[in-house]
Amino acid sequence: MKKSVSIVLLLSLLFTMFASIGHAAAAPPKLYLNGKQLMSDVDPQIKNGSTLVPLAILSDGLGYEVEWESVTKKVTVKDDNTVIELIIGESMVRVNGVIMETESKPQLINWRTMVPVRFVGELLGLDFEWKNTEREVHMFDKIVPPVKEPVDPIAPTVPVDPLVPVDPTNPTVPEKPALPTGIISGVTLNEQNVITITHTGVQKPNKPLLLENPRRMVFDIPNATYLPELSATFVNGQSETTLMDNPLLNGYRYSQFSNTPLTARLVVMINPDTGYVLSETENAIHLSFMPSSEVPIEPTIPVVPPIPVDPPLPLPGESDEVYDIVLDPGHGAKDPGALSKSLNRWEKEFNLSVALKLKAALEKDKRIKVHLTRTDDTFVELVDRVKFAENLKADVFISIHANSYDKTSVNGSETYYDRPNSKPLADIIHKHVLAGMGLADRKVKKAGYKVIKQTTMPAILIEAGYLSNSTDSKALFNDAVQNRLADEVTKGIKEYLNLK
Ligand SMILES: [Zn+2]
Repeated sequence: MKKSVSIVLLLSLLFTMFASIGHAAAAPPKLYLNGKQLMSDVDPQIKNGSTLVPLAILSDGLGYEVEWESVTKKVTVKDDNTVIELIIGESMVRVNGVIMETESKPQLINWRTMVPVRFVGELLGLDFEWKNTEREVHMFDKIVPPVKEPVDPIAPTVPVDPLVPVDPTNPTVPEKPALPTGIISGVTLNEQNVITITHTGVQKPNKPLLLENPRRMVFDIPNATYLPELSATFVNGQSETTLMDNPLLNGYRYSQFSNTPLTARLVVMINPDTGYVLSETENAIHLSFMPSSEVPIEPTIPVVPPIPVDPPLPLPGESDEVYDIVLDPGHGAKDPGALSKSLNRWEKEFNLSVALKLKAALEKDKRIKVHLTRTDDTFVELVDRVKFAENLKADVFISIHANSYDKTSVNGSETYYDRPNSKPLADIIHKHVLAGMGLADRKVKKAGYKVIKQTTMPAILIEAGYLSNSTDSKALFNDAVQNRLADEVTKGIKEYLNLK
């Protein structure tokens, strides 16, 4: 531990020296946790008004568990209650499986991963204060961490070899001490639209997640459970109240969301312009709902509606989402695609036929809504297919094609993906394409087809078989095979979306 602290100091001194030689820009902000300065080998930076810090600040400095996947450029930050997943350059962030948006995107700066400390820290329960003249970010943990070894920034006592790598699996901050469990004894709504949670020993809920369809705020209360007399009144694991004619609220429900970690959840169904203010009195937390315009200072809820990048994982009691699936039958009209010489039929016909069957099969499930980029023999530009899916903010994009090759012996089914966030979808769907078509396995492959490259949601392109091969051709234009393919891909999509 001592070793890594010294390396960090040494490096930070070097970096500070170079930085001051290089340019005379504003000094980097300093970071403090509970009044104690946090050091890092790379200086924090301010980009677009938010402070970005290297990952080591979150792990070594703040004691969170941090993972970095270089292939997918994904950062995962977690504590006992919260898992935050960020992707470099993306404004979409997944928090406990739910998508949120941040204006301060994580970035790679000089090959280092830099993350927005305030956005992440607040989700993990830290309070923030920015001292503008001093250029200092002050963070306050509600639980004071155990006293660390004093760090003397002037005299690192043990000179160490700066080439010895810092062990990232050995964060230098001890774990936070466990708190006694909080007990909720009542959740009530009064005529002034204040929801009061009466309790003993309950911590403030985390910042709510704002979800759509229907619009609602989800408050998670860490380390809390209910008085047995209260939970005994739950029906199907929750207490639910529906409100009529209330201009702000449509209802609320609460439940024990999770036992490990122990988390109570309150979901408040809100109208579009409803905001809230949280206050606390002894043994009570008050959520006062009001029109957003009346919320003092800055609203505590994200104002941008969440946009899915990955399929949001359905949460218990939260399975009322509708998934938007875009099916893209390739080609159309003047662009017929490949020709089956043996049957004298064109690819565009196969693509549309399967897409229509797949739509019918998928929409048997009310949680799925299918959108087709073309519903008849018309020509649609690739760029318009991409725009169509993007405008819909679709959850999944599937382009349907059949292949062709000079050698008529080449045969089998392929599934293509381009972006890393599409690979899991490709793997699952390909399995079902094979089961549906019953042809040779030509595997999952990566290729930058425009429609799967330029879209942002998980997107794949199926080449169901080879029209240049007579055996494949027969299967491709066989109605029973097409139906089986539609049923199998439906199973695959539901498997991917975790729809039981
Ligand atoms: Zn094609």
